[in-house]
Amino acid sequence: MIDARTLLRSLDDAQPTSGSALAARFGVSRAAVWKQIEALRASGAPIEAAAGSGYRLRGPLALLDADAIRAAMPDPVRRKLRSLDVHWQIDSTNSALNRRVQAGDPGPGACFAEIQTAGRGRRGRGWQLPLGGGLACSVWRRFDAGMASMAGLSLAVGIGVVRALERMGYNGIGLKWPNDLYHEGLKLGGILVELGGEALGPCHAIIGVGLNVHIDAAAGTTIDQPWTDLASVRAGLPIDRNRIAACLLEHLLDVLECFAQSSFAAFVDEYARHDVLCGKCVRIIGGRGERFGEAAGVDRQGALLLRTADGELLVDSGEVSVRPQSGTAP
Ligand code: ATP
Repeated sequence: MIDARTLLRSLDDAQPTSGSALAARFGVSRAAVWKQIEALRASGAPIEAAAGSGYRLRGPLALLDADAIRAAMPDPVRRKLRSLDVHWQIDSTNSALNRRVQAGDPGPGACFAEIQTAGRGRRGRGWQLPLGGGLACSVWRRFDAGMASMAGLSLAVGIGVVRALERMGYNGIGLKWPNDLYHEGLKLGGILVELGGEALGPCHAIIGVGLNVHIDAAAGTTIDQPWTDLASVRAGLPIDRNRIAACLLEHLLDVLECFAQSSFAAFVDEYARHDVLCGKCVRIIGGRGERFGEAAGVDRQGALLLRTADGELLVDSGEVSVRPQSGTAP
């Protein structure tokens, strides 16, 4: 059996490598090579297979590497982060960190994976991560003030992601309340915050970020919402997922620290600058059925302010989804 990661690393985007050359290199049959290549392709890896010439990557692909991520971090951030795991395949990065939390790890820590077998969005929805094309990143941290004080955390995390992307040269990223990243009406990423612990005492937050970096068009057909990736947000910028990962961690840790001190109130104005729903007519789904209104920003706890025919009301993020009324993208 060939190790999938080693096989992927041995492919090139400049020239194809024949199945027989790979079989000889790994001491296996051509059929075994083919089988593993098909498994990689099924996971979304951008591999082309041409009869007679062999296998070639459709573009350069650098796999995630914990040492490379650490090396791209400023010293203070590297010191702050107590653990950094990079998995080839895992159920979900949030679940992996939850296991660390349950094991009594002091945190903060982070985790990445190339393949998630059960990547999660909110309310049980799935997150697609074509192999090599995105980032599945989770970070966790302990807080003293209790889960009751964590309102607005997913919005603050969104700001952390936007700051990181702006630093990397990707501008115009919008936030769709409460947990999505958009660019020009297309979904670029999502955030999943999972809390545990006491309502008024020690607690923890596990924050998952799924970000589309350079999704292979073929693999992207399995994503059932209009989507975009960083390669489309700004074409031509060299893409190094390890550097993006490091920058993301730096900004997420910074936001979590600021949130621990000042709560969401510290982020309200910045959120307003990236709020793609503000002024739009929206439909709120869930909770007590459907409600319609105009989104009018967020309050100091991160609740969505909705102007309805019956007056203004505040909507908590917990169990609702927001859609533009026309059904178009935000
Ligand atoms: P909500 O407004 O409630 O957040 P949502 O549809 O954005 O609704 P999420 O839980 O945030 O739901 O994200 C999961 C959804 O995102 C999936 O059901 C799928 O439609 C979409 N999705 C999955 N993978 C990707 C991806 N790589 N890029 C863009 N969208 C994706």
